[in-house]
Parts: sequence; C-alpha cells; structure tokens
Amino acid sequence: MRDVLMPVLDALPATVQVFVRDDDAGWEDDRLLALLDVTQRAGVAIDLAAIPAAIGPELAAELRTRIDAAPALVAVHQHGLVHANHEPEGRKSEFGAARTAAAQREDLELGRALLADWLGARVQPWFTPPWNRCSALTAALLAAAGFQALSRDRGAKPLQSELPELPVDVDWSRHWREGGPAAVAAALAQALRARAADGAALGLMLHHGVMVREERDCLAALLADAARHPRLRWRAMRELLPSPAPRIAACAQFA
Ligand SMILES: [Zn+2]
Repeated sequence: MRDVLMPVLDALPATVQVFVRDDDAGWEDDRLLALLDVTQRAGVAIDLAAIPAAIGPELAAELRTRIDAAPALVAVHQHGLVHANHEPEGRKSEFGAARTAAAQREDLELGRALLADWLGARVQPWFTPPWNRCSALTAALLAAAGFQALSRDRGAKPLQSELPELPVDVDWSRHWREGGPAAVAAALAQALRARAADGAALGLMLHHGVMVREERDCLAALLADAARHPRLRWRAMRELLPSPAPRIAACAQFA
C-alpha cells in the first residue's frame, strides 16, 4: 500500500482534509476497541457511527473513558436505531421510503435518547443512516429535530435538504474484500486526486466489525506513514462542519 500511496501523496497539487468514519459501534466490541487502539496510537481522529440500541454498558463505559481522555481523537454520533431493514423490497434501509414520518421520527428520537443516556453531552449532533441510505423525509426530520449534519456516500442522490452533508468516499472493507490492500490503495489514490482537485474533504469509511487483524495492521502501517504527511490534514468530523448552534437550555436560568 505504501508503494502506491506515498508517490500519490507526494504529487498531490493541494492539501487534502481527511476524516475517518467507522460504522456500527455496538457490534463486535473487541474489534472496535482494537481499531480505536490503532487510530489513537497514530494520533488520528475517528468518528464512530454508533447503533443506539446495540450499545451495552461495558462499551458505553469504555467510550466515555476514551472520549474524556482524548476528546480530539474519539467522537460518537448516531447510526440509526437498531440497524434493521424496513424495506419490503429493493435496497436495504432503516429510514427508507417504506417508513412513515411518525415511524422515522420515533426511531430517531428513541435512538438519540438512548445514546444520550449512555454518553450524555459527548454525542455529536450528526446522523449516519445505516447502509448510507435515507429518504428526503429523513433529512427534513433530522433538521427539525436539531441534528446538524448528515453523512452518506459521496455519490448519493441529493436530498433537497438544507442539512449540511459530509459524505464518505472510500469503503475500506468493500475494497479489501474485492481485491485486498492493492484495491484499497487504488481507491484511496483515486479519491485523494479527486479531493485535491475539488477541495472537498475525503471521507474514509471503516467497518471495524469485519476488519481482521491483517486489515488493522495494514491501516496502522498506512497511518504511520500518512498521519503526518504534509499534503494531508486529518480531521474530526466536527472540524469539517459548521459549529453546533448554542443550546436553548442555556436560557433556563431566566425561567
Ligand atoms: Zn452500518
């Protein structure tokens, strides 16, 4: 991977901002903690898309500890409610066309409440829909509920929403399954060149639950080389999105 990517990085015509989004926190906790060890050791921020109903007390305690110890390096936001498919046919989605506004709103609110119970104010106000798919209705409900950003695939159909989006470009594990480290490196090289050209941030999507040790070792080696490369700026999602609006609760003292 190094042989392919280092020359690409060295030749980039502009600096590229990169963020790492790992999905499905709540599943495969041991693999999640092993991945967090890799990114934290490299000093690279990681944003976890967490499945609210899948988080248990042990993982919640571990995440609280890690976020409090290194708030610049670990962050958590909401990834659906239970990561269940509700579409009777076609592509999987938890927040797709088959769901009514009431059903979607209920799931969004329950998920947010569950995450807040476990992690309190540590939860970031973004939403990653399971399978990177949701409807325009979901975006409207998210905005109305106070969410401040949405993260899907770069190529996803626009939603006619005012909600800012921070899309992912590279699906690490899909490329790894299809062609191993060479395929991941090729996908990263292509995305790096595209983002250097258009100035948008590059989103690297991980799925710790399917990452075997060899994959994590490969990521660790990549980060060892690339974490401080002068053409890259590794960012947390919060650094790439508008600042959250002040909370209305701050006015409670006048009540
Ligand atoms: Zn997912």
